[in-house]
Amino acid sequence: MPALDDILQQKNQLLAAGLKSRTLHATHRSAGAQAVRAGVSFISFSCNDYLGLSQHPQVVEAARTAISEYGAGAGASRLVTGECPLYAELEAAIASAKGQEAALVFGSGYLANIGVIPALVGRGDLILADKWVHACMLDGARLSGATVHRFAHNNLSHLEFMLEQQRAEHSHCLILTETVFSMDGDRAPLPAIAALAKRYNAWLMTDDAHGFGVVGAENPAEIQMGTLSKAVGGYGGYVCGSQALRDYLISASRSLIFTTALPPSVLAANIAALRIIAAEPQRVALPLERAQQFTQALGLPLAQSAIVPLVLGENDKALAASARLAELGYLVAAIRPPTVPENTARLRFAFCADHTPNQVQALADIIRAEGWV
Ligand SMILES: *Cc1c(COP(=O)(O)O)cnc(C)c1O
Repeated sequence: MPALDDILQQKNQLLAAGLKSRTLHATHRSAGAQAVRAGVSFISFSCNDYLGLSQHPQVVEAARTAISEYGAGAGASRLVTGECPLYAELEAAIASAKGQEAALVFGSGYLANIGVIPALVGRGDLILADKWVHACMLDGARLSGATVHRFAHNNLSHLEFMLEQQRAEHSHCLILTETVFSMDGDRAPLPAIAALAKRYNAWLMTDDAHGFGVVGAENPAEIQMGTLSKAVGGYGGYVCGSQALRDYLISASRSLIFTTALPPSVLAANIAALRIIAAEPQRVALPLERAQQFTQALGLPLAQSAIVPLVLGENDKALAASARLAELGYLVAAIRPPTVPENTARLRFAFCADHTPNQVQALADIIRAEGWV
């Protein structure tokens, strides 16, 4: 029998041969979308800190104060020793920001999805998920034991076809989609999906990871999850909806029950960030404005969110383009399969409130000069 490391080395070589290995890079982030890697400074266009709030003085100060008051860690899960009083304040702020009756905070967006979905559906039930939903929604769907099918991206007639074929054979049905899709930046037709859900007696759950704090839209879904790790600039996940939903999930979500609560400093930072989001609509408008400036400069379809993909095809092309931009001082992530479909490797630009119009224009000029559009 080969030793574990021999097997892993072989696997690593296979990944490298397919340009599929991933590596970690120590990167010192700071205000103004700045990042320093191995002593070299970059402007980052690959960060989800859309509003720059992870570096905001009020947010940082709130975290510091909470550490002094409550200590560095939570001590146990939310249920076991009693939770930090900041949870109630944070959940009230989220429910209010989302216009929902109640909110429940999880350790991360990932934990929210893998906790909420299996709490709501199981064997004998049906999940219909948009083909492009995030990996953690799919992981939650798989964990649930329900029958899982995926409908073509944003394709209402395909969704309706699946409902027609399969709904009657299952007890409950849950439809999963995102408000803003994380790799393409496009948006789901939520009112139309909700109307279908209603017609077929299905529930709708949305993932608002890239919408919250950037693009708000009417959301009729009865189960709305999201993350505090992107525009909010901190860490944590949430689900909001009715009080009954919250009450039930506290008793039924394994990823809430069997994990330690968030550190008080993180709760306080999230609360401070939500306050800024509520008070500064002009800041919230900036990421979309910058993204639209970029797509207009390049003649691309008008950005619908802060995320703009530039699909280049093969992995080597996306990696080479990302490396070229790094030479010029810009951090732009190359996204490859399996994160995106085969042959759609791409540059993924994320625009932030901290980017200046001049920086966006300079980036667009480079992309034209390189002949990538
Ligand atoms: C980032 C992301 C998540 C996970 O959120 P975390 O808080 O980082 O765990 C879930 N869904 C989507 C669409 C995301 O982009």
